[in-house]
This record gives sequence, C-alpha cells and structure tokens, in this order.
Amino acid sequence: MVVADDDRATRALVARWVQTTGLSVIEAGDGEAALLCVNAHLARVAVVILDVMMPNRDGFGVLGALRADPATHALPVILLTAHATDEPDVLRGIETGAADHMPKPFSGPLLVARVRQLAQQRAAAVRTDWQLRRAQTAATRDPLTGLANRRQFEEVLVAEQAYAKRHQSPAALALLDLDHFKTVNDVFGHQSGDRVLCHFAEIVRATLRVEDHAFRVGGEEFALVLRGTGVQGAELVIARLRAELSRAALILGSDRTSYRIRFSAGVSPLDGEKAVAAVLKEADDALYSAKRSGRNQTAVARV
Ligand code: GH3
Ligand code: MG
Ligand code: MG
Repeated sequence: MVVADDDRATRALVARWVQTTGLSVIEAGDGEAALLCVNAHLARVAVVILDVMMPNRDGFGVLGALRADPATHALPVILLTAHATDEPDVLRGIETGAADHMPKPFSGPLLVARVRQLAQQRAAAVRTDWQLRRAQTAATRDPLTGLANRRQFEEVLVAEQAYAKRHQSPAALALLDLDHFKTVNDVFGHQSGDRVLCHFAEIVRATLRVEDHAFRVGGEEFALVLRGTGVQGAELVIARLRAELSRAALILGSDRTSYRIRFSAGVSPLDGEKAVAAVLKEADDALYSAKRSGRNQTAVARV
C-alpha cells in the first residue's frame, strides 16, 4: 500500500494502522513522490491513501493521474482529508474516482476495515483480469507452438485483405505443410514430432518481419499472411525459411539422428477483389501441386 501525506506524523500513524492488516506500507511525502512510488511498486500496491493538501500535486491531481494511466486506472484510492464532509470536496473526489473519503483525524479501526476490504476487492479484480487474459490467450494461441491459431488466421486474413485493398498494397498468403511428418512420429515418437513442430514455429517467428503473421492452422500445417509483399516476395521469405531450416537441423531419437525439416508451400496473392475463401482455395491448390511435384518446394497459384 502507498500512503502519501506531507505530514510525517500522519503518514506514520496510517502506516502503523495499515501494517496490522499484514500489508506493507510505502510512504511518500508529496504528490509526485506518490506517483513515483505507485509506479515503481505497481505489482505490490493494492490500495493508495492520499492526503488532499500536498505540495507537488495535491491528492486530486494524483488521483487524476492514476485514473488516466491504464496501468493504475483501477487502483482503489482513499482520500484522507480534513474536509471529508465538505460536499464540494467529496463530490470532486467521487467524480475523479476516489473509492472513499476519510476525515482527519481518522479512526484507525475504520481505516483498517476499509483498506482490508479494498485490498480484497483489488486482489479479486486482479485475479479475474489475469484469468480473462489467460482465456484470451487460450482462445487465440496454439498451446504447443505459441503461434496464433486457426481462428486468428481466419480473422487476420480478412483484416489483411481489407488493409491491402484500402492501401492499394500487395499482400500474400502462404500455406505450408511439413513433408512426411507422420514418419517423424512413427520413427522417433510423438514427443519428437512435437519438438519438430516447435522448432519449425521458432524458425518461422525468427524469419518473419514484425508486420507479418504466422499461424498453426492444423497438425503440421502452418499459414503466413505477409503484408506489403506480392507472391514473389512471399517466395523469397519461404526460401529464407528453407535456408534457416537447413542450417538448424534437429537431433532426434536415441541414436541422435540429424533431422532436417522439409515442407511444401502454396502461395497466392491476397487479392482484395476476391472472396477470402477463393484466395484460400488457390493457395491450397498450389500447395497440393507442390506436394504432387515431389514436395520440398513452393508452388504459386495460377491466377
Ligand atoms: P505429407 O508429406 O503428404 O504432408 O505427409 P505427412 O505425413 O506430413 O502428412 P499426414 O497428413 O499424412 O500426417 C500428418 C501427421 O501429423 C499425422 C498426425 O499424427 C501428425 N500430427 C498432427 N498434429 C500433431 C501434433 O500436435 N503433434 C505430433 N507429434 N504430431 C501431430
Ligand atoms: Mg504433411
Ligand atoms: Mg497435412
């Protein structure tokens, strides 16, 4: 917890009472110091207690700054003020987002009860937030490789096609399918198969530019959505990927076999005039023709 008050005696008294709840207390002597303390110890701060009349930003100013920053937006703040019963002050505090007002001099037991309650609410909110983020990650990421999943692929494909159309810029879709991947599982075991998938994803991530997107869309099937790049650019990216993979062979199985990942690829332009399903079909047909022509190669859609 952070307590900010320019009066050292009040700070110490608040700290003594709050410490009975088991919360640790960080003291600040003015408004700016309060903001610094909150930001420096963000993960540990559950409640903030602010004096209203302080040098270098008063309590309202600090409260406003905390509310304006997404990182501290939801932190509960108690205003400690000699004017806790003055209607305009209380109103201003509520409007700025104070959780409570406490009069000075304050009642220790009341302050403790309120701090404890707010800290519990804060802990519950942080937990919910964390669970929500975890659920979001689970819904959008493939847990094995950490790449975005098929659902994300479908959304991004539509969005990138719209972007390409709006900005009159090229974009490309590439579908990649590992060659004879079933053999890896059969010969070296499923765990080695998983390692191959993770290794492949890692190299893909390292090879792409930040504005490009990579997805695991099926078991050993991946997709790239490349912005600002036509099919020729996509072929170059894929060639770079092949070169990286040949440099970084994997050692698999008890007899430590050196295994080099090979894959087939189908590329199509992400044409803004076409239905997304048609673009996907073109890339898929191209991939099929790369497989039929002997694998370990890239085919471009005939459009
Ligand atoms: P092709 O060259 O024609 O693509 O042959 P392939 O063996 O790569 O393709 P096929 O579709 O016949 O087999 C894909 C295999 O991928 C079968 C499946 O057991 C395996 N697989 C799918 N998901 C996973 C996974 O998460 N982990 C592992 N280890 N294997 C997986
Ligand atoms: Mg395959
Ligand atoms: Mg396959």
